[in-house]
Amino acid sequence: MSDETQSENTLKAWQAAAADIQIDGRAFINGQRSDSLSGETRPTINPANGNEIAEVAYCGADDADQAVNIAREAFESGMWSSMAPADRKMVLVRWAELIESHAHEIALLETLDVGKPIADTLNIDVGAAVRTIRWSGEAIDKVYDEITPTPANCLALVTRLPLGVVAAIVPWNFPLSTTAWKLAPALATGNSVLLKPASNTPLSALRIADLAAEAGLPAGVLQVLPGSGGSLGKHIALHMDIDGLTFTGSTPVGKQLMQYSGQSNLKRTFLELGGKSPNIVFADGNLELAASSAALAVFYNGGQTCTAGTRLIVEESIMDEFLPMVIEHSKAWMPGDPLDPATVMGPMIDSAQYQTVCDYVAIGKEEGAELLFGGNAVHEQSGGFYYQPTIFSGVNNQMRIAQEEIFGPVLAVIPFRNADEAVQIANDSIYGLAGAVWSRDINTAHKVANAVRVGTMGINNYFGGDITVPFGGFKQSGNGRDKSMHAFADYTELKTTWIEFE
Ligand code: NAP
Repeated sequence: MSDETQSENTLKAWQAAAADIQIDGRAFINGQRSDSLSGETRPTINPANGNEIAEVAYCGADDADQAVNIAREAFESGMWSSMAPADRKMVLVRWAELIESHAHEIALLETLDVGKPIADTLNIDVGAAVRTIRWSGEAIDKVYDEITPTPANCLALVTRLPLGVVAAIVPWNFPLSTTAWKLAPALATGNSVLLKPASNTPLSALRIADLAAEAGLPAGVLQVLPGSGGSLGKHIALHMDIDGLTFTGSTPVGKQLMQYSGQSNLKRTFLELGGKSPNIVFADGNLELAASSAALAVFYNGGQTCTAGTRLIVEESIMDEFLPMVIEHSKAWMPGDPLDPATVMGPMIDSAQYQTVCDYVAIGKEEGAELLFGGNAVHEQSGGFYYQPTIFSGVNNQMRIAQEEIFGPVLAVIPFRNADEAVQIANDSIYGLAGAVWSRDINTAHKVANAVRVGTMGINNYFGGDITVPFGGFKQSGNGRDKSMHAFADYTELKTTWIEFE
């Protein structure tokens, strides 16, 4: 599908494009598409209607072993790992341009696979992937190593070397952007990579791998293997010849991966995990903006966002004024057909996630929280997994709906009386991924932002940030950092070379 064919941005035009799209579900190994060694496939399903989109290669341990050997050979050959950074940059920049010129096709694949609104995949996800790959490519020939302050008869070099063969395991909620967040720094720093997409959402990663080959990435440097987490993913995590593992996904699986690392070769393991992020609103904040952002923070991507602002922590004195404002903005988040450019929220990814949301809404009611808004499934006749934006008030932070990651459009509203209590509630969580504070008093805003133990904190915004800043979690939200130059550290080893002169 060329981008010229998608000139009209209407539901009808996107439906026609979806009916026409050609999908290759084969794995990407050694620079080309191939079936899994067993020939097995699994369907990938459209969450908007429950229909099969395509059959996708179902790779297992044999495929992983073969892919690791190919990746190792590519790494040892030096064709990529020893290529001048300026030349690696050219390949990555070309790759970004190719993704950009196939934006409509890739956005459509992502919308079909994830159920994400086409307006988001086109305007946010593809752009984020392009920027990440281009930025990492552009950055890599501007990174200098170190010479340390030694005595005159010595010279000490501190250099960063690629890890070698890196595996990346990614989730289904932002398949394209998390894939780019992993591949861009891993490849820029000279590693060979094996990517396992989520079983639910393999399509965009496979397609951009074709474009990487077209951009000049040497065969063998990147492999994309679709397959199950419990078998293929586990085999990768236990593999003795994979040097690094970068993961985005749930906290329980992240913990498992650390154990696999310890049980195998201590592969460097970096994790981006779950969250239960606090969004703190003080009485002196810009309440109109805080209310619209509160809805965005939790309902964007159907709440299937690691950084979702799922705990709205509101100064008690403004609760009666503020909650109606949040409800008003939440009405704009009713789910609809993801192929409609006017849709802002799509379905849940699958029936299991949908059921999880239903279960937590029942738990919230049982715990005594007040269901203020939503709380029902919608569009059931579509065959898709749609759920209304849902708000509980009267929540206390000990309730399960305030402590556990629901990963759906469910907001828990919690009152506070002063800044210390707001911080205490915010920090009373096993997670520490993101958060925000709303106040026009710079002292309150900064004090609270500083005290909340999370990797990213917004002051008077939610979801702020770009590729120049690192992204990752404190506590059980993970240990690695995606984005920015700091991401390069996760994909490299520091080496000291100490030279003595005669
Ligand atoms: P998940 O169940 O942990 O799965 C993530 C990936 O791990 C998938 O590719 C999955 O494969 C694979 N996997 C599952 N079990 C495995 C095992 N035993 N060994 C190796 N790999 C295994 O998470 P998810 O449900 O896809 O994604 C949602 C979670 O991701 C949420 O907790 C969310 O907060 C988190 N997340 C975090 C960030 C961040 O940057 N901090 C960003 C986005 C999402 P299958 O698909 O085959 O199961």
